[in-house]
Amino acid sequence: MGLVVFIAGLLVGSFLNVCIYRIPREESIVFPGSHCPSCNTNLKAVELIPVFSWLWLGGKCRTCQSRINGRYPFVEFLTSIILLLVYMEVGIGFRFLLLSIISLLLLVITFIDLDHQIIPDGLTLLIAATGLVNLLYGYVGGDGISILNAATGLLLGGGFFLLIAVASKGGMGGGDIKLMAALGIWFGWQGILLVMFLAFIIGGIYAVGLLVLRGKGRKDMVPFGPFIALGGFLSALYGQDILLWYLTRFL
Ligand SMILES: [Zn+2]
Repeated sequence: MGLVVFIAGLLVGSFLNVCIYRIPREESIVFPGSHCPSCNTNLKAVELIPVFSWLWLGGKCRTCQSRINGRYPFVEFLTSIILLLVYMEVGIGFRFLLLSIISLLLLVITFIDLDHQIIPDGLTLLIAATGLVNLLYGYVGGDGISILNAATGLLLGGGFFLLIAVASKGGMGGGDIKLMAALGIWFGWQGILLVMFLAFIIGGIYAVGLLVLRGKGRKDMVPFGPFIALGGFLSALYGQDILLWYLTRFL
């Protein structure tokens, strides 16, 4: 089953590449088919096999020989790894579907934010919508969070980032605020605190790393969305484990 998940991940990842490229450009994600960004030649089936086509063609377009970004196979591979991690946590079922959707939405958001410094509202709305389904699913199954808790999470996540945005005079974008609010529905107030905590820890480590390695100044803009996304992914999959680890170590 793991192998099936892995191969499905490569195919899904190939579609996510299309989403990452086209959504911020407001192009359709279904039509036209994939083409070389350089010479516009439509890609044939042999050129569309995730990861392998790229390796086989040496990372170049078969028609115009222009370099094809290594990020395409990377995203495909990463998608497979993410789906495998979800599978290892919850097996196959409705929960797998929900966690896969939120994880992959966060992946798409990460790369769009890195490329364009925006988080499209449509993707944030999809996270909120999946959050509502998750809420309902947990509610029916009896192991979810309460509606009041989800509403508190929404206000806490969005509100806290709104405060940061105001206090830092635009250091945090509107996309980040909305994403945190949407994730609040998923996680409730305790969970969204963990998302924030992880995002700031990882973002902080990254910032210090950049400062040490490259001497980057304050002026260089690093989007915060990817750190929220990573914090959200880790919380969704390992939130309980992380909290348990933390509580047994430090309390
Ligand atoms: Zn080409």
